Amino acid sequence: MLEIQDVSVRYGRVTVIHGLNLSIQKGEIVAVLGPNGAGKTTLVLSILGLVPVASGKIVFDGTPVSNLKPHQIAGKGIGVVPEGRGIFPKMTVEENMKMGFVFFDQDPARMQERMEEAFKRFPILGERRKQVAGTLSGGEQTMLSISRAMMRNPTLLLMDEPSLGLSPKLVEQTFHLVRELHAAGTSILLIEQNAVQALHICHRGYILQKGSIVLSGRREDLVSNEAVQRAYFALEKN
Ligand code: ATP
Repeated sequence: MLEIQDVSVRYGRVTVIHGLNLSIQKGEIVAVLGPNGAGKTTLVLSILGLVPVASGKIVFDGTPVSNLKPHQIAGKGIGVVPEGRGIFPKMTVEENMKMGFVFFDQDPARMQERMEEAFKRFPILGERRKQVAGTLSGGEQTMLSISRAMMRNPTLLLMDEPSLGLSPKLVEQTFHLVRELHAAGTSILLIEQNAVQALHICHRGYILQKGSIVLSGRREDLVSNEAVQRAYFALEKN
């Protein structure tokens, strides 16, 4: 579904992603783990066409997308829950959700239908549809960011640390949501610092350090890997 082939990304003269290879098959949840500054967000931005790829290629559903404009890439069916959720705080819940739709599709009936689907998934958002989004709780803002991304029915959803800054209960709930979206047919690239939870729900994972993949594999292999155990699981226990 998504093939990242030997991709490097630079900010000015500094290379922050070095010849990275990563793939997502249809129906997978793929986790990308790594410390602060590893290049996880840059990877998401480069898939979306928001930062240019210096070399290499990104192919989505058989079509090279690395030279397309962000709206063209999004229009191909890639949605995003950005780092920090990216909601518009002064707009209402409904207005935020419309922003996920109107640039790609103008059919008002379809927009209404998608919105009602989201309110069925998250009844609390339905109750607060006229409330300005800046006054929602952190968990509700996460639901809104996911709902906005789902407004145009993406086949692949990029999620950049959706659990960041949430209480343990809401972290749990967020990972549950990721599973639900996956069960409903969305493939997911999940960027996370919350390694234990991410490894619990993904099919495969990649560990990114200083812009390079240092380890990748199936969930079971990563979970039983000694370096992963030491870096993530041992730390989580302390
Ligand atoms: P975090 O988990 O802290 O969000 P990350 O893995 O998402 O980190 P990135 O935000 O992709 O990391 O940053 C990778 C590197 O690129 C960092 O060293 C960062 O300082 C640098 N960087 C990010 N954005 C820019 C930019 N716009 N200009 C210059 N350097 C940048």
